[in-house]
Amino acid sequence: MDNCIFCKIVKGEIPSTRIYEDDICIATLDINPAAMGHTLIIPKEHHNDITDNTDEALLGHLFKVASIVGERQKERLSADGFNVLQNNGTAAGQSVMHLHIHVIPRYDNDGVIGLWKPLEPSMEEIAAMGEKLS
Ligand code: 5GP
Ligand code: ZN
Repeated sequence: MDNCIFCKIVKGEIPSTRIYEDDICIATLDINPAAMGHTLIIPKEHHNDITDNTDEALLGHLFKVASIVGERQKERLSADGFNVLQNNGTAAGQSVMHLHIHVIPRYDNDGVIGLWKPLEPSMEEIAAMGEKLS
């Protein structure tokens, strides 16, 4: 897609540091990482987000590659764990409108990501939400 920065990265029109590539996706280092080694899994085909004309094969593949990259972060960066994150829509923090998955290496007590402050709903409120979303 014209003017999509990740399409340009996939095509090699702008530089990036690729650490993995196959027929379906690339994995490249994020230029503003949450932690060193923060990687983006980017499908070669343009999809705006996870709901945009995606299928199980594509989404399953992207998560498989995310798991491979996360394992590599543990083995080669001595990470204690890793986050797999995926943002959809500006409200959710998506800034590049080409589907991608973040894989962020984590270390014990690194304090890198605190995504939410837990609410404390009643059991009734949880049950009502369950009705809405079932
Ligand atoms: P989002 O906020 O959309 O989930 O994540 C977009 C990510 O892409 C951000 O973490 C941002 O740092 C990264 N990013 C933006 N532009 C570029 C770029 O030109 N190259 C690379 N490698 N990463 C980018
Ligand atoms: Zn794109």
